[in-house]
Amino acid sequence: MENKRGHVLAVPYPVQGHITPIRQFCKRLISKGLKTTLTLTTFIFNSIKPDPSGPVSIATISDGYDDHGFDPSGSIHDYLQNLKTFGSKTIADIIRKHQTSDNPITCIVYDAFMPWALDVAREFGLAAAPFFTQSCAVNYVYYLSYINHGISKLPIKDLPFLEFQDLPSFLSAPGSYPAYFEMVLQQFTNFEKADFVLVNTFQELELHEKELLSKVCNVLTIGPTIPSMYLDQRIKSDTDYDLNLFDSKDSAFCTTWLNTKPQGSVVYVAFGSIAKLNNVQMEELASAVSNFSFLWVVRDSEEAKLPSGFLETLDKDKCLVLKWSPQLEVLSNKAIGCFLTHCGWNSTMEALTFGVPMVAMPQWTDQPMDAKYIQDVWEAGVRVKIDNESGIAKREEIESSIKEVMEGEKSKEMKENAKKWRDLAVKSLSEGGSTDVNIDTFVTTAQNK
Ligand code: UDP
Repeated sequence: MENKRGHVLAVPYPVQGHITPIRQFCKRLISKGLKTTLTLTTFIFNSIKPDPSGPVSIATISDGYDDHGFDPSGSIHDYLQNLKTFGSKTIADIIRKHQTSDNPITCIVYDAFMPWALDVAREFGLAAAPFFTQSCAVNYVYYLSYINHGISKLPIKDLPFLEFQDLPSFLSAPGSYPAYFEMVLQQFTNFEKADFVLVNTFQELELHEKELLSKVCNVLTIGPTIPSMYLDQRIKSDTDYDLNLFDSKDSAFCTTWLNTKPQGSVVYVAFGSIAKLNNVQMEELASAVSNFSFLWVVRDSEEAKLPSGFLETLDKDKCLVLKWSPQLEVLSNKAIGCFLTHCGWNSTMEALTFGVPMVAMPQWTDQPMDAKYIQDVWEAGVRVKIDNESGIAKREEIESSIKEVMEGEKSKEMKENAKKWRDLAVKSLSEGGSTDVNIDTFVTTAQNK
């Protein structure tokens, strides 16, 4: 009997902010009847030992660093080459292994950072779709940069409000990370040959930008990929991301602590899973947030940069520093008054869809553009001004930005705007909403290839 169930192999770029949305997308596909298998690198798999009974099956691929993982101080260029060489081979192995099973793989959803996965899919005659984990706006600017060999002048015709400091850092600070810059441009080498281009955003949030991108490829907006039970509530088992590369043992305590705080009183400070602040910036930030009640995520690798004595002298009732937080639980807690964020795309969408106004402190890659949209397009936050001379955000600026968002004139408006985006996100995910319809379209192709 012909198998019509469809089986998607989902291949994220192996970092937290890419694994999470692709895995969440898999949960949606499962709810629509597909089987899914998510790939993790052998190193990540061995490090976190994911629960084998989770809804999304897991298979391992190699990035060439199985035993010790990639040391981020090493050559990014070499890492990306190895990921391609070893990744292509091990993805093909997984497909072959499933060929004789009851549920052969019918489609590959691969991270847009890994465009070579399209060749693997086509070798086996499978449907294929890159998954973009950044906004349509950012993708469109990278696309322009790809076809025009850079953004030579501003304003950009279709996005005239963008200024130099709003562009992704690879464009505004050329030469800063050449291998990553090359990688984000490579996303567009073959994207129009894929069956669909999946973008983790929702149409209502980026109407104009989605249209721009749709002129050059077959876009399906399929986000936000935040657990269903926080939004449309149609997938009862989807209550959490539940796959952390970081130790989240403080989670229970964090929520208990927040539950004792008055509504809207706590500043939540977190810079995602990768961004690094320099010592001076860390000191400015520490000084600024000390004027508020705060919950600050300082990852292990960042802790040594805190001013000496900072942790020891904290008022533990007013302030909490964690190595990793259950961010969804935090953002949905009534005690949170604002989110001081690096504006990673997941964090941005999480804040928008939880209706939490933001203090934007972008660090690199796509974050400056997200910050621009947060402040001027979605009007759900304030971007901290950078001191021209030192290139950092000074304590007074950070403090006044927090005040502006927590209690300033426009504070109420920002909160209302953030809530508006939440309602639109729920609508897009609900039956017949833009995201829901797009996922159905994708499912039909993934099943019938
Ligand atoms: N996150 C979390 N706890 C933390 C910090 C981050 O759960 O303490 C999650 C956050 O909810 C988001 C992801 O990690 O889903 C970070 O992704 P984002 O795109 O915001 O930033 P990146 O880490 O890719 O720079």
